[in-house]
Amino acid sequence: MVTAPTPKTTPQPTVKIGQTKLLINNEWVESVSGKRFETINPATGEVICDVAEADAPDVDKAVVAARTAFTSGDWPKMSATQRGELLYKLADLIEANKEEIARLETLDNGKPYSDSFNTDLSLVIGCYRYYAGWADKIQGKTIPINGPYFCYTRHEPVGVVGQIIPWNFPLLMQAWKLGPALAAGNTVVMKTAEQTPLSALRIGELILEAGFPPGVVNLLSGYGPTAGAAISHHMDIDKVAFTGSTEVGHLIMEAAAKSNLKRVTLELGGKSPNIVFADADMDKTIEGAHFALFFNQGQCCCAGSRLFVEEKCYDEFVDKCVKRAQNRTVGDPFDANTEQGPQVDLEQFNKVMSYIESGQQEGAQMLCGGGRVGDRGYFIEPTVFVDVQDQMKIAQEEIFGPVMSIIKFKDIDEAIKRANDTMYGLAAAVWTQDITKAHAIANNVRAGTVWVNCYDVFDAAAPFGGFKQSGIGRELGEYGLQQYTEVKTVTVKL
Ligand code: NAP
Ligand code: MG
Repeated sequence: MVTAPTPKTTPQPTVKIGQTKLLINNEWVESVSGKRFETINPATGEVICDVAEADAPDVDKAVVAARTAFTSGDWPKMSATQRGELLYKLADLIEANKEEIARLETLDNGKPYSDSFNTDLSLVIGCYRYYAGWADKIQGKTIPINGPYFCYTRHEPVGVVGQIIPWNFPLLMQAWKLGPALAAGNTVVMKTAEQTPLSALRIGELILEAGFPPGVVNLLSGYGPTAGAAISHHMDIDKVAFTGSTEVGHLIMEAAAKSNLKRVTLELGGKSPNIVFADADMDKTIEGAHFALFFNQGQCCCAGSRLFVEEKCYDEFVDKCVKRAQNRTVGDPFDANTEQGPQVDLEQFNKVMSYIESGQQEGAQMLCGGGRVGDRGYFIEPTVFVDVQDQMKIAQEEIFGPVMSIIKFKDIDEAIKRANDTMYGLAAAVWTQDITKAHAIANNVRAGTVWVNCYDVFDAAAPFGGFKQSGIGRELGEYGLQQYTEVKTVTVKL
């Protein structure tokens, strides 16, 4: 293993650590067991602080609070406009504290501060505002049924919603889940990822400041097999929304089936094909493909992790791709020039390193990277494999790290067939100047999102989610909102 020099560290800004307890019924409380667990700064491996650790009894308490808030109290009495106003207020408070919250996200997750601030926080604020606007626009239909009847539908909240989120975009995943749930009038019990509890708790403080009634939002830091499983098995939770690995997605659905048939939406993994034709604008495509894979340390469910490149431009493309990867700046996430910070924890670091080893063992050619950067924190060199074959592990499984796999193809039919040859179907992209090819890929690749001559373009209004084992349901946009309502048909004899 090559060990590059330790990244230089700029003086660390002071990051304000806020609440570390559980938020239940608008009160900050210790867990029933009294247990706490540590959260780590992945840039140094050092402990930041510890937080209260929720388990099943805390989930029970939070569900009672959420159920009470759903059936009585101020929340169900509020008008849709008032719910929207609370969400606007929350968005304003986040915006007013944007720098501080972005610093906390970077400290706990390791992503570059410039990404936290410019990308994550901007999308978070946009998401809360988008759903704030929806709150008073959720409406049913009148239906001309046969006979002397007046028939209409109401779109009512599902009820108490359990939400389990991952660590790769802690604040954004929280916003994608809270925004539509609250706009539609649900109440929430949310478990954050064990690696990144801090920013969600800061949002909890702002939820209180905004004036949400008690029990509407309950936030639990804790582990998946304990607190997470308690949510997915709970008999008084009406719906569970989960983002994370496909493996755990299976467990969530099984738990829902074995308990109360709670509604399930899942946003899971991917192995997204990013297809480059020789007629594409090469420089833009190189940068786009680089971003598609390396953004967020490669820790994106929709990362363009199978980079299919047409034979005609393969050599030129590979050459430039490798140069770009070699120029990627890895280091202190608080340094303004840093493009790539550490992986989120040691477990993810080891997992990514084992995929790098597997790529080499299976005969893919590693043209750059492959080593650790520095001797503390979980930094990995931007790594590029070429001559990757479809059956290799690095072409099949989600690596979730800064490891690019370049695959050669001859023509469009072959590209479509191989792009679809996976259990996943989260996203895809195509780079070409030929509109016919672009639409052929857009129509025939089985994925929930297809980007044409761009990648990772996200907007709160555009739905996102997976075909096949990449998930069930959609998040964002109007489609995402629909997953948080039940349709009631009312028929009145005239
Ligand atoms: P994960 O276990 O699926 O974590 C996602 C969330 O589910 C976390 O809050 C986790 O809690 C919770 N969880 C874990 N086991 C659970 C269970 N039995 N019941 C209910 N909830 C449970 O993912 P991971 O272990 O962090 O990462 C493993 C791999 O998943 C990654 O390498 C990547 O391939 C993939 N992943 C995908 C996404 C995505 O955006 N689709 C995000 C993260 C990871 P803990 O905090 O205790 O783990
Ligand atoms: Mg952490």
